[in-house]
Amino acid sequence: MTVIAYIGIGANLGAAADTVRHAIRQMATLPGTSLQQSSALYSSAPVDAGGDDYVNAVVALETDMMPEVLLSALQTLELAHGRERPYRNAPRTLDLDLLLYADQTIQTPLLSVPHPRMTQRAFVLLPLLEIAPDIRIPGHGEARQYLPAVSGQEIFRLAE
Ligand code: AMP
Repeated sequence: MTVIAYIGIGANLGAAADTVRHAIRQMATLPGTSLQQSSALYSSAPVDAGGDDYVNAVVALETDMMPEVLLSALQTLELAHGRERPYRNAPRTLDLDLLLYADQTIQTPLLSVPHPRMTQRAFVLLPLLEIAPDIRIPGHGEARQYLPAVSGQEIFRLAE
């Protein structure tokens, strides 16, 4: 059985747009997984973090991986991109967040789904709503209702 999972992607070191595009291609080749949809790339100012602006995107994956297995695969990709974590919210080469996994709510020591901060972040909501305008966030209702609250956050869509 497969589900649709939405992944938030962020990068702000080096050739960040290339990193995001590369990560998308890599996610498309994960076992039992295919890329369903891919948002445009966005540029956003760091929230609770330092350094350069971020490049962000959201993809929808169709996958037969269980949530923890998918998270682990995403973390392997982060590591492959040389992510170092000297301190909390340090700039990162690649950050992959499991935003939504079907309509499931998951709360384990390793995994919180829906991603707890996704309703507060323009860099998640804008690309997510671009590819899934009617998406609902389990326990939170329609994603689009959170847009007004993040309208002050600096974000723009990058040219293709
Ligand atoms: P971050 O620094 O934001 O990438 O956080 C990574 C940590 O958050 C890892 O230890 C994960 O186990 C944990 N985590 C909890 N929920 C999620 C989620 N939905 N997506 C990604 N990481 C998560």
